Amino acid sequence: MQAISQGELELVRFDTNGLLREIQRTLFPKITSQVTCHYGHIPTLSFVERVGENRYAISLHSMFNHPETPELVIRHMLIHELLHLEVPARALREGEVDPRISRKKGQEPQEPLGPIAHPAEFWVRERELSPDRIVAMRWIFEAFWGRLEYRAREEQFRVRKWRSEFGRRVVRPTIEQVRAGLLEQASEYPDGLGVGV
Ligand SMILES: [Zn+2]
Repeated sequence: MQAISQGELELVRFDTNGLLREIQRTLFPKITSQVTCHYGHIPTLSFVERVGENRYAISLHSMFNHPETPELVIRHMLIHELLHLEVPARALREGEVDPRISRKKGQEPQEPLGPIAHPAEFWVRERELSPDRIVAMRWIFEAFWGRLEYRAREEQFRVRKWRSEFGRRVVRPTIEQVRAGLLEQASEYPDGLGVGV
C-alpha cells in the first residue's frame, strides 16, 4: 500500500491521535508498538502500515477529515485497523470457503489469492470490540455514496474520483439520522448491514 506524502491539518472535532491512544490502551493492551494516525489522500478508506521498528501508522482518507465526521465513525475505523495488528493475515485453511470469491458464480481462482487479510476470526473479534460497527459503516455508505467501490479480491473499499473540492459537497448525516434509518430497515434486514473495510 502506498504511503501518503503528508498528513493533513486535522479538521475533525476531536483529537484523533488521543482517541487512538485511548482505544489502544483500553481494547488492545497487548499491542505495545507505537501507533499513530493521520488523514490523507489515499486510495482506500484506511489502512495500517509498519513504518519502523515497533512503529505503525494508520492512514485515514481525507473524506473523513471534516468537522461533521462523527467520532463514532473514526473510533470504528481505528479499532478495525488496530485489529489488523492483533489478527494478522493468514493462509486459508483446508476446506475453508474463500469469501473473496463469488460463490454465486462458482468461479475458481486462476491462481491462489494468497493470505486473507480479514479471516473469519477477524470479524468475530471486530464484533466484540466495535459494537457500533454497523452504524459506523452505514454512515460511511450514506455520506460517501457513489465514491466507494468494494473490491472483494483486494478486501477493500477503493475511493473513486476523490478531489478535495468534492468534500464541500459531501452531505454527512448525523449518527442519529443513521440510527433512525437503521431502525426503520431493521425488519427488512434483520441481520444488519455489517460490511467490513
Ligand atoms: Zn481491514
